[in-house]
Amino acid sequence: MDFIDLKTQQKMILPAINDRIQRVLAHGQYIMGPEVFELEERLAAYVGVKHAVTCSSGTDALLMPLMAYNVGPGDAIFTTPFTFIATAEVIQLLGATPVFVDIEPRTFNIDPTALARTIKTLGHNPQTASLRPRGIIAVDLFGQPADYDAINAIARQHQLFVIEDAAQSFGATYKGRRAGSLADVAATSFFPAKPLGGYGDGGAVFTNDDGLAEVLRSIRNHGQGRDRYENVRIGLNGRLDTLQAAVLLVKIDIFDHEVAARQEVAARYTSNLKGVVTTPLVAPECTSVWAQYSIQSDHRQALQERLKTASIPTAIYYPVPLHLQGAFKHLGYQPGDFPISEKASQKIFSLPMHPYLDAATQEKICDVFYRNSTA
Ligand SMILES: *Cc1c(COP(=O)(O)O)cnc(C)c1O
Repeated sequence: MDFIDLKTQQKMILPAINDRIQRVLAHGQYIMGPEVFELEERLAAYVGVKHAVTCSSGTDALLMPLMAYNVGPGDAIFTTPFTFIATAEVIQLLGATPVFVDIEPRTFNIDPTALARTIKTLGHNPQTASLRPRGIIAVDLFGQPADYDAINAIARQHQLFVIEDAAQSFGATYKGRRAGSLADVAATSFFPAKPLGGYGDGGAVFTNDDGLAEVLRSIRNHGQGRDRYENVRIGLNGRLDTLQAAVLLVKIDIFDHEVAARQEVAARYTSNLKGVVTTPLVAPECTSVWAQYSIQSDHRQALQERLKTASIPTAIYYPVPLHLQGAFKHLGYQPGDFPISEKASQKIFSLPMHPYLDAATQEKICDVFYRNSTA
C-alpha cells in the first residue's frame, strides 16, 4: 500500500501526458515555453485572482514575495512553528527573523488571538524589541485554510502584509473563496505529493496586485527589466520548467474530480475513526483538500507499529516544531514556549491519503484501530 499513490492516477492520464510532453519536445521551448503561460492562465482562473506567477518550487513561491516586499535584517515575520521548514526557512534566508505564534489545537493553523498578542508585545520582549514588524505568513496546514478574515484584520491594524502558504491547500475554500486568493499574496507547491503535484519540483505565486506581479515575474528571472539583458534587481533562477507545466496542464483537468474524491476518502476515515482517535476538524467556513489526513492519539507509537505490521504506511507531520529545531536555535526559544504545537507534534500522525483510496482498503486500515491490543 502506498502512503500517496501516484501510479493509479498516472495510468489514467498517461496518453494525455505523453501527448503533452511530445508537443514540448517538438517545439523545444524548454524554458518559458507556451505551456507555462497556458498554465498560469488556468491557475489564475481556478483560484480567482488576476495573476498566477509560476516558479521552480513552493519554497521559491514563498521566497519571491518576501523579496518583492524587500524583507531583510531587522524585520519580524510572524508565522507558526507547526509547519514544514520552508515556511520559516525563507524568512531566515533573507536575514529577517521568524517570530513564532502558536496554533489552534483542532485546525493546526495560526491562532489569531495569539497572533494579535505577539504583535502587540513584540517590543516588550528583549529578544525581539529591536525588530520591525513587517508581515505574516499564515499556513493552510494539511489542506485547510487558516482564518483569513481575522488574520487580515490584524494585519491591516498593524500595516503588515499577509502571505498565504497554500502549499497544501490548493483547491480548498474559505467562505466560498479559493485558497490562493485569501491574502495579499499566496504561494503554492506542485511537489509530486501535494494535492496538485507535477513530476518534479514546481510552484506558483498568486496575487491581485499588478505591481507586485510584475516584480515577482522579474525576481523569478534574475531580476530582469524590459528584456533579459537589463537587470533591475537581484533575483533568482526561479522559473517553472515547460515540461512540468505540460504535466500540470493534464493534471489540472482532473483536479476537481480528485478534490471531491479526497473529500469522500476523508469523510470515510472520520466516520470510522471518530471516538477512537482525535479526528481532524474542518471549520464550518472551510473545505479542505486533505493534503494529509492527520489524527491524534496518546498511543501514537503503538498504533503506528500495529499499522506497520499490517503493511499500512503512516507518517508524522511534524515530529519537532520549528522553534525546537537546530536551524532556529539562535532564536532562543525553549520547550514549553508553544505548548499547543508541542502537544500536537507528540500525538499526531497521518494515514494514507490520495484520491484513489477505495472503501475496502480504508476499511482494512480502520480495522487495525479496533483490534484488541495494549493501545
Ligand atoms: C511543501 C511545502 C512547502 C514547500 O514546497 P516545495 O515545493 O517542496 O518547495 C512550503 N510550505 C508548506 C506548508 C509545505 O507543505
